[in-house]
Amino acid sequence: MKRYAIVGSGLAGHRAAISLRNLAPSSSIHMFGDESHLPYDRPPLTKDFLLGKVEQAQLTFSDVQTYDTLNIHYHHATRIVAIDRHQRSITTDRNEVYEYDKLLLATGSRPRRLPEMEDARAIYLRTVDDAARLRSVLEPGRSIGIIGAGFVGLEVAAAARDRGCAVCVIEAAPSVLSRGLPPLVSNAIQRLHLSRGVEIVCGQTAKAIEWTRRGPINIELSHRSFSADAVVVGVGVIPNTELAAAAGLEVDNGIVVDCHLQTADPSIFAAGEVTKHPVGKGGALLRLESWNVAHKQPLVAAACMTGHDLVYDEIPWLWSDQFGQNLQILGDVADSQDFLLRGHLDSEQWTLIALNSATEPTGAIAFNSGRDISMMRRILKSGGNLPLDVISSSRPVSAMVPVC
Ligand SMILES: Cc1cc2nc3c(=O)[nH]c(=O)nc-3n(C[C@H](O)[C@H](O)[C@H](O)COP(=O)(O)OP(=O)(O)OC[C@H]3O[C@@H](n4cnc5c(N)ncnc54)[C@H](O)[C@@H]3O)c2cc1C
Repeated sequence: MKRYAIVGSGLAGHRAAISLRNLAPSSSIHMFGDESHLPYDRPPLTKDFLLGKVEQAQLTFSDVQTYDTLNIHYHHATRIVAIDRHQRSITTDRNEVYEYDKLLLATGSRPRRLPEMEDARAIYLRTVDDAARLRSVLEPGRSIGIIGAGFVGLEVAAAARDRGCAVCVIEAAPSVLSRGLPPLVSNAIQRLHLSRGVEIVCGQTAKAIEWTRRGPINIELSHRSFSADAVVVGVGVIPNTELAAAAGLEVDNGIVVDCHLQTADPSIFAAGEVTKHPVGKGGALLRLESWNVAHKQPLVAAACMTGHDLVYDEIPWLWSDQFGQNLQILGDVADSQDFLLRGHLDSEQWTLIALNSATEPTGAIAFNSGRDISMMRRILKSGGNLPLDVISSSRPVSAMVPVC
């Protein structure tokens, strides 16, 4: 009987366990997760969960009975502390040892922490417990300070505003969403937030922060200070690679895997947000903080772990919801200087199609325009050209020029 072990019980770990059971009905499967909850979905934590539209129970993927019925041994609140590649075994934090034939690392990421934000009152949002703590503060009239204007910071800002809080977002970079998105998109999203009453302070860090035990938290900026009932820190994540690194596997801001999601050790695979995997025709190694990676990679990893020859070649895709508006990003948009714009960036619906230097499409950014993303996915997959009606209904814009 083959023995499969999975470290990490987020979306990737859960999906791998179910896939392995389908592909290897008589195998033994052990999944280990250091959280005390059943595996659950993270995207709603900054959206509907904060708005009170969904509860924790609705976020879980499976109940205990389902794992039992599928004969998946789910070890919750159990941390794997070591991998012995020679013995092909893993050790838990209770010093139990489990042998494997194939091992999957699906250890995800944790929030990057700031030394000046180490107070117990700072909220770093990754888990359902973090989100529940924040939700309890989001009452009308409360003030929320947010450090970092990435997706997590802006989604929290939108939810907090929708719940009637005063919100101030402080971002060290000159604009919001500055990582990997062109200035004209940052400007459009910033305008959305300003129009809903979010205060955004870019190009600044908190000069000083005064954490009182119970009263308001005072954040001092260069031109004023902001008094907050809660401070949320969203300044990026760090992949959980320490276990892999200690076992001598290649790690480079992510666990390095090939297109089969296999590490250099043929018995060890990785899947989900922790992987640094080949992307696109050039095979550049990227680590993507995207739900779709954690959703799709485990199927390929499980297939390859059970002897099938499958390749992970998904086009990068992620979405964000803010103030009920949907932003989607597909393919390679980071390096493009030139775009085709469908619609108007100040309107409720627009799409930017990214072009390379040969004016071929490489990706798209769509605002409330999921249909354009589906069209672009088909075009990018087939390597085809843009339809004439799309070209004729678009106008060229430069990434650097804010379009009003
Ligand atoms: C608040 C939030 C909102 C998001 N919103 C969106 C969105 O709108 N759109 C989008 O595309 N993506 C979004 N994402 C990203 C997406 O949800 C994640 O990329 C995805 O959930 C990652 O899943 P994963 O299973 O790879 O990793 P994780 O969910 O991080 O799961 C890994 C698990 O492994 C555990 N673990 C780590 N090390 C060990 C160990 N040694 N032993 C045992 N257990 C271990 C961790 O504690 C964790 O429970 C969001 C993420 C967050 C946090």
